[in-house]
Amino acid sequence: MSNGDCLFCKIARGEIPSKKIYEDEELFAFYDINPHAPVHFLIIPKRHITSLAETTSEDSALLGKMLNLARKLALDLGCRNGFRVVINTGRDGGQEVPHLHVHVLGGPRPWKQA
Ligand code: IMP
Repeated sequence: MSNGDCLFCKIARGEIPSKKIYEDEELFAFYDINPHAPVHFLIIPKRHITSLAETTSEDSALLGKMLNLARKLALDLGCRNGFRVVINTGRDGGQEVPHLHVHVLGGPRPWKQA
């Protein structure tokens, strides 16, 4: 289910424009609007999940798919010397958008502090 008011649900539905990198029936990937590295993109599930803390073992396949896509897109986008994968979770985890998302950051350093 998607959530009508959620920013990232709106992006996944194409109601808010984004720089899309990838889409399939379950996942959507797009560039972060405020990049902290030369390559900085986000991977979200189309289904509304508030954060990693709300996932269960039933979501194992989805979470695995998100990490596999992180690797594939990072390498496709030229992050051959490594990349960073971050999932901010909840208030104390610094999460600002309450829809599960994986940050992928890469490219030549130095980067802004993320
Ligand atoms: P969080 O702090 O882990 O929740 O990160 C949310 C990220 O979403 C931040 O890095 C923002 O720059 C990014 N962001 C917020 N709104 C948009 C948008 O409309 N398009 C793309 N990225 C966004």
